Amino acid sequence: MKFTVLGSGAGIPSRTRNTQSYILDVVEEINQYFLIDASEGVQHRILHTTVRPSKIKHIFITHLHGDHIYGLPGFLSSRAHQGGEDIPLTIYGPPGLKEWIGLTLKTSHSQLNYPVHYEEVSHNVQYEVEGFTVDTYLLDHTIDSYMYVFNEPEKLGKLNTDKLKAIGIQPGPSYKEIKNSGTFSHEGVTYDTKAFLSDPVPGRKVSVHGDTRVITKPDYLSLLEGSDLIVHEATYLEREIEKAHMYFHSEIHNVLQNFSQIDYRKILFSHISNRYDEDDIRLIKETLDEHVSIAHDYLEITIPRISL
Ligand SMILES: [Zn+2]
Ligand SMILES: [Zn+2]
Repeated sequence: MKFTVLGSGAGIPSRTRNTQSYILDVVEEINQYFLIDASEGVQHRILHTTVRPSKIKHIFITHLHGDHIYGLPGFLSSRAHQGGEDIPLTIYGPPGLKEWIGLTLKTSHSQLNYPVHYEEVSHNVQYEVEGFTVDTYLLDHTIDSYMYVFNEPEKLGKLNTDKLKAIGIQPGPSYKEIKNSGTFSHEGVTYDTKAFLSDPVPGRKVSVHGDTRVITKPDYLSLLEGSDLIVHEATYLEREIEKAHMYFHSEIHNVLQNFSQIDYRKILFSHISNRYDEDDIRLIKETLDEHVSIAHDYLEITIPRISL
Protein backbone atom coordinates (compact mmCIF):
# COMPACT_ATOMS: atom_id res chain seq x y z
CA MET A 1 0.00 0.00 0.00
CA LYS A 2 1.35 3.38 -1.03
CA PHE A 3 0.18 6.98 -0.79
CA THR A 4 1.14 9.37 -3.59
CA VAL A 5 0.76 13.13 -3.54
CA LEU A 6 -0.32 14.48 -6.94
CA GLY A 7 -0.85 18.00 -5.64
CA SER A 8 0.20 19.48 -2.31
CA GLY A 9 -0.69 23.16 -2.68
CA ALA A 10 -3.58 25.20 -1.30
CA GLY A 11 -5.99 27.42 -3.22
CA ILE A 12 -4.06 28.25 -6.37
CA PRO A 13 -1.21 26.30 -7.97
CA SER A 14 2.38 27.48 -7.87
CA ARG A 15 5.26 26.46 -10.12
CA THR A 16 6.25 23.76 -7.65
CA ARG A 17 2.88 22.68 -6.25
CA ASN A 18 -0.33 21.72 -7.93
CA THR A 19 -3.60 21.92 -5.97
CA GLN A 20 -5.09 18.95 -4.12
CA SER A 21 -5.11 15.34 -5.41
CA TYR A 22 -3.85 12.09 -3.95
CA ILE A 23 -3.64 8.45 -4.89
CA LEU A 24 -3.99 5.61 -2.41
CA ASP A 25 -2.30 2.75 -4.23
CA VAL A 26 -3.94 -0.54 -3.25
CA VAL A 27 -2.78 -2.43 -6.34
CA GLU A 28 -1.04 -5.12 -4.32
CA GLU A 29 -4.14 -5.61 -2.19
CA ILE A 30 -7.04 -5.26 -4.65
CA ASN A 31 -5.44 -4.32 -7.98
CA GLN A 32 -6.71 -0.75 -8.12
CA TYR A 33 -6.16 2.84 -7.03
CA PHE A 34 -8.34 5.15 -4.97
CA LEU A 35 -8.23 8.77 -6.16
CA ILE A 36 -8.81 11.33 -3.42
CA ASP A 37 -9.75 14.79 -4.70
CA ALA A 38 -9.18 15.76 -8.31
CA SER A 39 -7.63 19.17 -8.73
CA GLU A 40 -7.12 20.88 -12.05
CA GLY A 41 -4.46 19.07 -14.05
CA VAL A 42 -4.89 15.79 -12.17
CA GLN A 43 -4.91 13.82 -15.42
CA HIS A 44 -1.59 15.39 -16.43
CA ARG A 45 -0.13 14.53 -13.02
CA ILE A 46 -1.27 10.94 -13.39
CA LEU A 47 0.68 10.75 -16.68
CA HIS A 48 3.87 11.21 -14.63
CA THR A 49 3.07 8.15 -12.50
CA THR A 50 2.44 4.46 -13.19
CA VAL A 51 -1.26 4.86 -12.33
CA ARG A 52 -3.63 3.57 -15.00
CA PRO A 53 -6.87 5.62 -15.10
CA SER A 54 -8.86 2.46 -15.87
CA LYS A 55 -7.72 1.07 -12.51
CA ILE A 56 -9.29 4.00 -10.68
CA LYS A 57 -12.74 2.68 -9.83
CA HIS A 58 -13.49 4.81 -6.76
CA ILE A 59 -12.98 8.57 -6.38
CA PHE A 60 -13.41 10.27 -3.02
CA ILE A 61 -14.04 14.03 -3.05
CA THR A 62 -13.55 15.81 0.27
CA HIS A 63 -15.40 19.03 -0.63
CA LEU A 64 -16.50 21.15 -3.53
CA HIS A 65 -13.93 23.96 -3.50
CA GLY A 66 -12.30 24.38 -6.90
CA ASP A 67 -8.79 23.48 -5.74
CA HIS A 68 -10.13 19.98 -5.00
CA ILE A 69 -12.44 19.26 -7.95
CA TYR A 70 -11.66 21.29 -11.06
CA GLY A 71 -9.80 18.39 -12.66
CA LEU A 72 -12.62 15.92 -12.30
CA PRO A 73 -14.54 16.50 -15.57
CA GLY A 74 -11.31 16.28 -17.59
CA PHE A 75 -10.23 13.12 -15.83
CA LEU A 76 -13.63 11.48 -16.35
CA SER A 77 -13.66 12.35 -20.06
CA SER A 78 -10.12 11.11 -20.67
CA ARG A 79 -10.65 7.90 -18.70
CA ALA A 80 -13.12 6.90 -21.40
CA HIS A 81 -10.25 6.85 -23.90
CA GLN A 82 -7.60 5.40 -21.59
CA GLY A 83 -8.89 1.85 -21.27
CA GLY A 84 -11.78 2.79 -19.01
CA GLU A 85 -14.52 1.72 -21.41
CA ASP A 86 -17.26 -0.26 -19.62
CA ILE A 87 -15.31 -0.17 -16.32
CA PRO A 88 -17.70 1.19 -13.68
CA LEU A 89 -16.71 4.10 -11.48
CA THR A 90 -18.11 5.27 -8.15
CA ILE A 91 -17.69 8.88 -7.02
CA TYR A 92 -18.16 9.72 -3.35
CA GLY A 93 -18.69 13.37 -2.48
CA PRO A 94 -20.88 16.02 -0.87
CA PRO A 95 -24.29 16.97 -2.31
CA GLY A 96 -24.05 19.04 -5.48
CA LEU A 97 -21.17 17.10 -7.03
CA LYS A 98 -23.39 14.95 -9.24
CA GLU A 99 -25.26 17.99 -10.61
CA TRP A 100 -22.04 19.89 -11.31
CA ILE A 101 -20.44 16.96 -13.16
CA GLY A 102 -23.66 16.25 -15.04
CA LEU A 103 -24.03 19.85 -16.19
CA THR A 104 -20.35 20.16 -17.17
CA LEU A 105 -20.40 16.98 -19.23
CA LYS A 106 -23.72 17.94 -20.85
CA THR A 107 -22.59 21.48 -21.72
CA SER A 108 -19.37 20.21 -23.28
CA HIS A 109 -21.20 17.38 -25.13
CA SER A 110 -19.03 14.82 -23.39
CA GLN A 111 -20.32 11.30 -23.09
CA LEU A 112 -18.80 8.69 -20.87
CA ASN A 113 -18.66 5.14 -22.15
CA TYR A 114 -18.74 3.61 -18.68
CA PRO A 115 -21.28 3.66 -15.87
CA VAL A 116 -20.81 6.22 -13.09
CA HIS A 117 -22.46 5.80 -9.71
CA TYR A 118 -22.60 8.67 -7.22
CA GLU A 119 -22.60 8.28 -3.44
CA GLU A 120 -23.68 11.45 -1.70
CA VAL A 121 -21.67 11.44 1.53
CA SER A 122 -22.85 12.65 4.92
CA HIS A 123 -21.46 12.65 8.43
CA ASN A 124 -20.45 9.37 10.05
CA VAL A 125 -21.29 6.99 7.26
CA GLN A 126 -19.44 3.76 6.64
CA TYR A 127 -19.03 2.40 3.12
CA GLU A 128 -17.85 -1.04 2.10
CA VAL A 129 -15.45 -0.49 -0.79
CA GLU A 130 -13.87 -3.60 -2.32
CA GLY A 131 -13.37 -5.15 1.11
CA PHE A 132 -12.16 -1.92 2.71
CA THR A 133 -14.38 -0.01 5.09
CA VAL A 134 -14.36 3.72 4.53
CA ASP A 135 -15.63 6.03 7.28
CA THR A 136 -16.65 9.63 6.68
CA TYR A 137 -16.43 12.48 9.17
CA LEU A 138 -17.77 16.00 8.63
CA LEU A 139 -14.97 18.47 9.37
CA ASP A 140 -15.08 22.20 10.15
CA HIS A 141 -14.67 24.32 7.00
CA THR A 142 -16.54 27.12 5.20
CA ILE A 143 -18.53 24.48 3.28
CA ASP A 144 -19.16 20.80 4.06
CA SER A 145 -15.77 19.13 3.99
CA TYR A 146 -15.12 15.48 4.85
CA MET A 147 -12.41 13.23 6.11
CA TYR A 148 -12.22 9.71 4.65
CA VAL A 149 -10.76 6.97 6.81
CA PHE A 150 -9.69 3.93 4.79
CA ASN A 151 -9.56 0.72 6.84
CA GLU A 152 -7.98 -2.31 5.26
CA PRO A 153 -9.54 -5.62 6.36
CA GLU A 154 -7.50 -7.72 8.76
CA LYS A 155 -5.71 -10.72 7.33
CA LEU A 156 -6.45 -14.20 8.69
CA GLY A 157 -3.75 -15.64 10.89
CA LYS A 158 -1.65 -18.64 9.85
CA LEU A 159 -3.11 -22.12 10.04
CA ASN A 160 -1.59 -24.24 12.80
CA THR A 161 -0.92 -27.39 10.83
CA ASP A 162 0.48 -29.31 13.82
CA LYS A 163 -2.80 -28.83 15.62
CA LEU A 164 -4.75 -30.06 12.58
CA LYS A 165 -2.52 -33.13 12.26
CA ALA A 166 -3.04 -33.83 15.95
CA ILE A 167 -6.78 -34.24 15.38
CA GLY A 168 -6.08 -36.43 12.36
CA ILE A 169 -6.40 -34.06 9.41
CA GLN A 170 -3.49 -34.56 7.03
CA PRO A 171 -2.16 -31.79 4.73
CA GLY A 172 -4.14 -31.35 1.51
CA PRO A 173 -6.68 -29.14 -0.23
CA SER A 174 -8.93 -29.30 2.84
CA TYR A 175 -6.50 -27.01 4.69
CA LYS A 176 -7.44 -24.09 2.46
CA GLU A 177 -11.15 -24.84 2.91
CA ILE A 178 -10.73 -25.00 6.68
CA LYS A 179 -8.86 -21.68 6.78
CA ASN A 180 -11.63 -19.88 4.93
CA SER A 181 -14.52 -21.33 6.93
CA GLY A 182 -15.78 -20.31 10.35
CA THR A 183 -16.23 -23.88 11.54
CA PHE A 184 -15.41 -27.33 10.18
CA SER A 185 -16.32 -30.92 10.99
CA HIS A 186 -14.08 -33.93 11.25
CA GLU A 187 -15.15 -37.43 12.31
CA GLY A 188 -18.42 -36.11 13.66
CA VAL A 189 -16.88 -33.32 15.74
CA THR A 190 -17.38 -29.63 14.85
CA TYR A 191 -14.43 -27.33 15.43
CA ASP A 192 -14.12 -23.55 15.55
CA THR A 193 -11.54 -22.57 12.92
CA LYS A 194 -10.28 -19.68 15.06
CA ALA A 195 -8.78 -22.19 17.49
CA PHE A 196 -6.52 -23.40 14.65
CA LEU A 197 -5.34 -19.97 13.49
CA SER A 198 -2.70 -17.61 14.87
CA ASP A 199 -3.77 -14.06 15.71
CA PRO A 200 -5.07 -12.11 12.70
CA VAL A 201 -2.83 -9.46 11.17
CA PRO A 202 -4.50 -6.05 11.55
CA GLY A 203 -5.26 -4.04 8.42
CA ARG A 204 -3.79 -0.63 7.80
CA LYS A 205 -5.63 2.63 8.36
CA VAL A 206 -5.19 5.78 6.29
CA SER A 207 -7.08 8.95 7.27
CA VAL A 208 -7.27 11.73 4.69
CA HIS A 209 -8.70 15.12 5.62
CA GLY A 210 -10.34 17.72 3.47
CA ASP A 211 -9.81 21.36 4.46
CA THR A 212 -10.63 21.98 8.09
CA ARG A 213 -10.03 23.78 11.33
CA VAL A 214 -8.49 21.82 14.15
CA ILE A 215 -11.12 19.56 15.73
CA THR A 216 -10.84 18.39 19.33
CA LYS A 217 -14.04 16.34 19.61
CA PRO A 218 -13.51 12.90 21.21
CA ASP A 219 -15.42 10.95 18.50
CA TYR A 220 -13.17 12.52 15.84
CA LEU A 221 -9.97 11.70 17.71
CA SER A 222 -11.06 8.14 18.40
CA LEU A 223 -11.81 7.64 14.68
CA LEU A 224 -8.21 8.68 13.93
CA GLU A 225 -6.71 6.55 16.69
CA GLY A 226 -4.26 3.96 15.40
CA SER A 227 -3.90 5.45 11.90
CA ASP A 228 -0.84 4.29 9.99
CA LEU A 229 -0.99 7.54 8.05
CA ILE A 230 -2.89 10.75 8.73
CA VAL A 231 -3.03 13.33 5.95
CA HIS A 232 -3.97 16.75 7.29
CA GLU A 233 -4.04 20.23 5.86
CA ALA A 234 -1.54 22.84 7.07
CA THR A 235 -2.46 26.01 5.21
CA TYR A 236 -0.60 27.83 7.98
CA LEU A 237 2.86 26.62 8.91
CA GLU A 238 3.92 29.23 11.41
CA ARG A 239 2.05 29.89 14.60
CA GLU A 240 -0.80 31.87 13.03
CA ILE A 241 -3.34 29.82 14.94
CA GLU A 242 -5.97 32.54 15.22
CA LYS A 243 -5.75 33.41 11.55
CA ALA A 244 -6.04 29.74 10.62
CA HIS A 245 -9.14 29.42 12.77
CA MET A 246 -10.67 32.58 11.31
CA TYR A 247 -10.27 31.25 7.74
CA PHE A 248 -11.44 27.71 8.62
CA HIS A 249 -8.00 26.19 8.08
CA SER A 250 -5.28 24.72 10.32
CA GLU A 251 -1.87 25.58 11.66
CA ILE A 252 0.67 22.78 11.80
CA HIS A 253 1.76 22.99 15.47
CA ASN A 254 -1.82 23.30 16.62
CA VAL A 255 -2.68 20.06 14.77
CA LEU A 256 0.33 18.25 16.24
CA GLN A 257 -0.61 19.37 19.72
CA ASN A 258 -4.17 18.16 19.21
CA PHE A 259 -2.96 14.74 18.02
CA SER A 260 -0.52 14.32 20.92
CA GLN A 261 -3.39 12.55 22.71
CA ILE A 262 -3.72 9.79 20.10
CA ASP A 263 -1.53 7.02 18.72
CA TYR A 264 -0.60 7.13 15.06
CA ARG A 265 2.36 6.10 12.99
CA LYS A 266 2.91 8.98 10.58
CA ILE A 267 1.39 12.34 9.70
CA LEU A 268 1.66 14.11 6.37
CA PHE A 269 0.87 17.81 6.14
CA SER A 270 -0.37 19.12 2.82
CA HIS A 271 -2.47 21.98 1.36
CA ILE A 272 0.58 24.22 1.68
CA SER A 273 -0.03 27.90 0.94
CA ASN A 274 2.06 29.47 -1.82
CA ARG A 275 3.00 32.20 0.69
CA TYR A 276 5.76 29.84 1.80
CA ASP A 277 8.71 29.25 -0.48
CA GLU A 278 10.72 26.04 -0.45
CA ASP A 279 13.39 27.59 1.82
CA ASP A 280 10.75 28.44 4.46
CA ILE A 281 9.48 24.88 4.26
CA ARG A 282 12.96 23.39 4.57
CA LEU A 283 13.53 25.38 7.77
CA ILE A 284 10.20 24.30 9.25
CA LYS A 285 10.91 20.67 8.34
CA GLU A 286 14.10 20.77 10.39
CA THR A 287 12.07 21.48 13.53
CA LEU A 288 9.74 18.49 13.08
CA ASP A 289 9.96 14.90 14.35
CA GLU A 290 10.73 12.05 11.98
CA HIS A 291 7.11 10.89 12.03
CA VAL A 292 5.97 14.25 10.59
CA SER A 293 6.31 15.00 6.86
CA ILE A 294 5.44 17.99 4.72
CA ALA A 295 4.06 17.01 1.33
CA HIS A 296 5.55 17.90 -2.00
CA ASP A 297 4.19 16.94 -5.40
CA TYR A 298 4.92 13.33 -6.39
CA LEU A 299 5.93 12.39 -2.84
CA GLU A 300 5.35 8.67 -2.30
CA ILE A 301 4.89 7.15 1.13
CA THR A 302 4.96 3.39 1.54
CA ILE A 303 2.64 2.18 4.28
CA PRO A 304 3.97 -1.07 5.73
CA ARG A 305 1.70 -3.62 7.39
CA ILE A 306 2.81 -3.38 11.00
CA SER A 307 0.52 -3.12 13.99
CA LEU A 308 1.01 -0.18 16.36
ZN1 LIG B 1 -8.50 23.73 -0.41
ZN1 LIG C 1 -11.63 24.37 0.96
